Amino acid sequence: MKVLLEVSARHVHLSIADFKRLFKADAELTVKRELSQTGQFLSNDKLDIISSKSNLSGVSILGPLRRETQVEISVTDSLKLGIEVPIRESGDLDGTPGCKLATQHGQINIKHGLIVPKRHVHLSLDSARKNGFENGQILSVKVNSNGRSLFFFDTVARVHKDFMDAIHIDTDEANAAGVKGGIFCEVEAI
Ligand SMILES: [Zn+2]
Repeated sequence: MKVLLEVSARHVHLSIADFKRLFKADAELTVKRELSQTGQFLSNDKLDIISSKSNLSGVSILGPLRRETQVEISVTDSLKLGIEVPIRESGDLDGTPGCKLATQHGQINIKHGLIVPKRHVHLSLDSARKNGFENGQILSVKVNSNGRSLFFFDTVARVHKDFMDAIHIDTDEANAAGVKGGIFCEVEAI
């Protein structure tokens, strides 16, 4: 099946407690732009990710607030920070490294939560059923581009009734394929 490819830049999801530590007590996340997945949004707020070696400034915070803080960066970002960061699915944070997060209002040290997001395909129940795909199944994505076409193996299917069909890769992966997103790519069982 053909699915829309979207490229995720580095971003942060914050817990309510961490949000309160980083912003004024009465602050709330405000919506800059709705994202493709229902209820998810790019907020107007940003923060800095700080390591002992370097930092990434002006990183977008995505909403809504979550149970746990999660920082999603690329491998290139992890090299800049000098932190070895594992490739993980969203929410799988056991044993991941931490970092410092800072805004002009405050800063916190998170003990864990840094991940390089594993590339994935969001699928509605209907699309998954029609194509015989199951949640957690490993799929491949064929990207046709001008000079850097490739297959992304190891792409995990995430099936949920609230999902819109979308392939999510990060900026390193998009650069490797020579694409910027907004194109449709063939998703296949391996
Ligand atoms: Zn996603």
